[in-house]
Amino acid sequence: MNRPVRVRFAPSPTGPLHIGGVRTALYNYLFARQHGGQMILRIEDTDSQRFVPGAEAYILESLAWCGIEIDEGVGVGGPHAPYRQSERREIYLKYALQLVDAGWAYYAFDSAEELEALRKEYESRGETFAYNYTVREQLATSLSLPADEVKARIERGDQWVIRFKMPENRRVEMDDLIRGHVEVNTSTLDDKVLYKSADALPTYHLANIVDDHLMEISHVIRGEEWLPSLPLHYLLYEAFGWQETRPAFAHLPLLLKPTGGGKLSKRDGDKMGFPVFPLFWKSPTTGETAHGYREDGYFPEAFINMLALLGWNPGTEQELFTMPELIEQFSLERVSKSGARFQPDKAKWFNAQYMHHKTEAELAALYQPILREHGIEVSDAIAGHVAGIMKERATFITDLWELTSFFFIAPETYEEKQVKKYWKGDNPAILRALRDVLAAIDDFSLEHTEQVVHAWIEEKGYGMGQVMNTLRLALVGAGKGPGMYDVTSFLGKEECLRRIDHLLNTLKPAE
Ligand code: GLU
Repeated sequence: MNRPVRVRFAPSPTGPLHIGGVRTALYNYLFARQHGGQMILRIEDTDSQRFVPGAEAYILESLAWCGIEIDEGVGVGGPHAPYRQSERREIYLKYALQLVDAGWAYYAFDSAEELEALRKEYESRGETFAYNYTVREQLATSLSLPADEVKARIERGDQWVIRFKMPENRRVEMDDLIRGHVEVNTSTLDDKVLYKSADALPTYHLANIVDDHLMEISHVIRGEEWLPSLPLHYLLYEAFGWQETRPAFAHLPLLLKPTGGGKLSKRDGDKMGFPVFPLFWKSPTTGETAHGYREDGYFPEAFINMLALLGWNPGTEQELFTMPELIEQFSLERVSKSGARFQPDKAKWFNAQYMHHKTEAELAALYQPILREHGIEVSDAIAGHVAGIMKERATFITDLWELTSFFFIAPETYEEKQVKKYWKGDNPAILRALRDVLAAIDDFSLEHTEQVVHAWIEEKGYGMGQVMNTLRLALVGAGKGPGMYDVTSFLGKEECLRRIDHLLNTLKPAE
């Protein structure tokens, strides 16, 4: 059946969005764009117990930062509005009752305490309690109680839930675009709650299926943790008579810890020093904070590129992808079935690659705020130029200050190791002589200075390394930095001479 591609990202606002969730959103987005379809954002906030204020805004900001555009949904609107499930609450009861009428669901009146007591009782016998065909006709449900009592209980305001009546011993056959054919016997499943009178809200399962149907979703692309719910979802489509338009399903592999075993967690990130969230997060309730890729200095393009390859591979050696390239090349067929191990070093590697590809103009825009923080006021051309000289050695924009500060601030002190190595013997006298050579140069361009100084060193028979490192000590104050003539041409003659004089006048040679 060919129908328009409509996918949805359907997070629950229960805290900051994990990077696994961002990857789910990304794959949905790539799939939608590739097929000329629509990307929908639906907020699944029917679990009032787990609702966290600020989480929805965090999700929207994260997607915007990543460049994942929403066509329809929360924050955008669209023909199926509202897209926040708490604002759609009147819709769901009708559907739950439709299932009760059709015999696919029933009322249950057990209190939380009664269920807890049952669980304990089973446990004491070494068994696990499951709410399913084995007990539903003995418990306080509309399957065991007379119809008038059910009615009376509802009318006097007793709390109830509507549970799905999971068929006994039926084989459900399902297809997953990543995992292929999957089969489950329904006797292993329980009777999930679909609707609760206590808060007049549906649970995830009911709201999710009803909304996917009403919003005409064609493909459900979501995390592997939802695979166990798939048989119930298939049966719900059957119970409603919506099989014809049931979406295709694709369950994405888990993101695993760097060490391999288990799902990637915030604790792994804290322990090993990498974020597991796209943006910085501060819990409005506990005040607890978490690192974010954005605040830790990652470029959104690098972050997205890294995430895209955690679970999908292009089948080639290519590792660097722009968003348009991802849209063109992404395919669910090349998403792996097994979990994808997160590699913190690889995240940094991607960032470094994007850093190296930045133009001077891009670098200037990113670096200027840091320069200003240090009280350095320079043109964009200068900021971009120095950042450009050192970008190959930087992973993050914040690395640039350490790498380039000497361009703007003359050294006051000198790195001890370099002093011991070079500020001795003939070198101070040679530097004094080199000062005169530099003072006599009119054209202080990189090429010309290099030519004059090299000719002079050769003529004198000095060691190139000795002279250059002594000059570096004067101009940079340490054994780091780019080529020496990048430095001289940037600083200009006067500043070079001033720095040489400062070394000659303030530091006694080592021997
Ligand atoms: N609200 C669910 C979540 O938080 C959505 C699962 C689905 O995509 O069906 O992940």
